[in-house]
Amino acid sequence: MFAIALDGPAGAGKSTIARKVAEHYNILYLDTGAMYRAMGWKAVNSDVSLRDDKAVEEMLCKTKLDVRFLHGSQHVYIDDQDVSDLIRTPEMSKAASDISALKCVRLHLVTLQRQLAKTQPLVIDGRDIGTYVLPNAPWKFFLTASTEERAQRRLLQLRASGDNKTSLEEVIEDINYRDKQDSSREIAPLRQADDAIVVDTTHLTISQVIDTITKKIGILPHEISEKYNKQDSSGAQNR
Ligand code: C5P
Repeated sequence: MFAIALDGPAGAGKSTIARKVAEHYNILYLDTGAMYRAMGWKAVNSDVSLRDDKAVEEMLCKTKLDVRFLHGSQHVYIDDQDVSDLIRTPEMSKAASDISALKCVRLHLVTLQRQLAKTQPLVIDGRDIGTYVLPNAPWKFFLTASTEERAQRRLLQLRASGDNKTSLEEVIEDINYRDKQDSSREIAPLRQADDAIVVDTTHLTISQVIDTITKKIGILPHEISEKYNKQDSSGAQNR
């Protein structure tokens, strides 16, 4: 298995770094947070209480979730609707965190994530990749940054996506809420794997973080296609 696992709290820079590391090696980037967000979106839009395990489980059984990669970029589909552009709001962040504490949701999505990791080399980011999804991943990194820095980054992302109303205070509140909930849930909580390399990104530029990671990995991009059988992914599907 060639998997680079990136875990860490909200706003630590995981998705930006994961995307660029994947580009560097010309391999897939799997954003597992998008899968939880998509399920959160489904729950919010189905009037299902996120805390009602049974109702959510019932909903999940009827829900088709696909992950597809179009020109290298990940799209998440719920019941054949591409929801990728609808899941980046603060409301969906909270819904994702709420729904991700449910055992049935985790087991379901983790199965899909493991299937994808089996078929091709990838960079995969989340909260539980090094500890639970792929405990045998050969490379594990845990990205951190101060709460202030993480909130500023999240705010910039929201502004770039056209959200001009969410305030810095609201972003800090969201980050604190999710950090607490993600680290204290019973199943697969946010936790640094014992064998993960910690990278504090607070005072590092994006390229410094990528340099740190690729140097630790110590493999050249062309060595990956030589060593590992690269396949195109047409997507993972459930139901
Ligand atoms: O990474 P992102 O902010 O998109 O994740 C949204 C939420 O999904 C997180 O706050 C967390 O609750 C959940 N998540 C998770 N496990 C993962 C990825 C995301 O529980 N592997």
